[in-house]
Amino acid sequence: MAGKSTDEKKTRGQMLQEKLGFEIKNCWDNCTEKEEEEIFRFADEYKAFIDKGKTEREFTAGCLETLKKKGFVDIEELLGKGGGLRPGDKVYQNIRDKSVVFAVIGKAPPTEGLNIVGAHVDCPRIDLKTNPLYESAEFALFDTHYYGGIKYYQWTTIPLAMHGIFIGRDGVKRNINIGEDAEDPVFTITDLLPHLARDQMQKKANEFLDGEELDILAGSRPFKDDKIKDRVKINILNILNKKYGMVEEDFAGAEIEFVPAVKARDLGLDRSMVGAYGHDDRSCAYTAFRALLTFASGKPPAKTVVCLLTDKEEIGSMGNTGAQSRLFENFTAYLCAKTTPVYSEMLLRRALGKSSMLSTDVNAAFDPNFDSVYDKKTASYFGKGIGISKYTGHGGKVGGSEANAEFCAKVQGVFDKNKVRWQYGNLGKVNKGGGGTIALYAANLGIEVLDCGIAVLSMHSPFEVISKIDLYTAWKGWTAFLADI
Ligand code: MN
Ligand code: MN
Repeated sequence: MAGKSTDEKKTRGQMLQEKLGFEIKNCWDNCTEKEEEEIFRFADEYKAFIDKGKTEREFTAGCLETLKKKGFVDIEELLGKGGGLRPGDKVYQNIRDKSVVFAVIGKAPPTEGLNIVGAHVDCPRIDLKTNPLYESAEFALFDTHYYGGIKYYQWTTIPLAMHGIFIGRDGVKRNINIGEDAEDPVFTITDLLPHLARDQMQKKANEFLDGEELDILAGSRPFKDDKIKDRVKINILNILNKKYGMVEEDFAGAEIEFVPAVKARDLGLDRSMVGAYGHDDRSCAYTAFRALLTFASGKPPAKTVVCLLTDKEEIGSMGNTGAQSRLFENFTAYLCAKTTPVYSEMLLRRALGKSSMLSTDVNAAFDPNFDSVYDKKTASYFGKGIGISKYTGHGGKVGGSEANAEFCAKVQGVFDKNKVRWQYGNLGKVNKGGGGTIALYAANLGIEVLDCGIAVLSMHSPFEVISKIDLYTAWKGWTAFLADI
C-alpha cells in the first residue's frame, strides 16, 4: 500500500496530534527486508540457546561457556593477586552454577557507577520432593512440589523432561537430562478423563487439582522377582542406577526439575512469534547476555557495563543465588577492589549509589481472549517494542520499587535517541493481581532501577509466546542502555 504523499497538507489537528501525542506503532511496519532477516536470525539463535538451557543451571552453564570463549576471566581468581583491571578487561563471577554476573570494565572506573542489565534464569516448573519415588497400583510415580506460580492444570497431560543434578555417594556431581533427545522417553502428569470428571468439573479451577496431585508417571514394568515388594519402583531405581549410579537416598539433596519436553518453535503462519517453555525470563536474560557481549570486543564502553543473571526470582529471589543475597554487592566490591589503589566500603557504596540498572523481566502481553483484566492504555502489546513498567507490585503499588521520574526520563531518552521502540508495560488493571521482579533488591542497594521487558502471552504456562521483533528490540534496547545511560 502506498504511503501518503509528503507534500499533502496536514490539518492543524493532525500536526498537533503528531507533536503532542505518543503514538505506539507496530514495529514490523518500519522494518526493512534486511532487518527482518536479522530479526529472524536472532530468534533462531535464541531458540537454540534456550533449548539447551532449560534450567537455571543449564542456562548459566551456556553463558559461562560463551563468556570463557570470548575471553572473560573469573574475577575470584584475580582476588588477592597483584595487578588491576583496566578498561576493556572482561570478568565474570559464577555464583554456585545457578547465577552469573559478568562485566566489561569501562573507561570510567566502577566507582563512577555501573550500567547494569539484570534478569532471572529460573522458570516455573515441577520439582521433585526429597523422597519422591513410590509405587502405587503397579505404577512408579515421582512425588513433586511445584516451583513458582503455576496453574496446576496446565502442567498435566503434556510431555515432561527430567533435568537436574545429584551428588552420588562418591561425592561426584552428576547431571541428569532425560526427555530432550528424540530417542529419549518422556514423563507426564495424568489427568482424569472427561467421562469420569463430573465431580471434578464442578470444582473451581484452583481446586480441581491439588498441589499433591501433580505426581509424575515414571514406569509400569515390574522387576522380575516375586520375592520383593514394589517391583516397578525397584526396576526404575535399577535403571537410574545403571544410567547414573544413583541410589534412592541421592534424591534427598538432589535438584531435579521437570520441565516441558518441547523445543522452542516458530509460531504462526507468518512465523512472527516464538512459542517455548520459559520465555519468563530467559527471553530477557538472553537479550541481556547478548547485549553485554556486544562490548566484549572493540573500544571499551564509557562506563563499566554489567549483566546480572540470577536464580530464585520465581519464589521471591531468596537464597544465596537469588537477588536478595549479597551476590551483586560482592561482585561490585571485587570490581572496586581491582580498579582502585585502596579498596574501601565507602567506595563500594558510592559505586552502587551511582549505578543505573534495567531490571529486564517479561510483562503480560494484552490477550484479546481475556481483555477484561487489562488496562488497554497501559498494557504491553506484541510487536510494539520494550514494555516499560514504572512500577510493579499489587493493589496500591504494594511490594514494588517505583522508578524515579528522573531516571524514567533518562531511559526513555536513551531509547528515543537510539530509535528503540518502547511502550507501556503495566500488569493489568488495579486490584486484578500483580507481580514483582528483582528491581526492588537492586533499588535497596541505592541503584537507580527501572523495570523493562518483553511482552509474553500465557506467562508461567508450559508454552509461553513472545514476538520475534520484541525480542530483537529488547536486545537493541539493552545494548543502547549499557552504552549510553
Ligand atoms: Mn519473570
Ligand atoms: Mn515469572
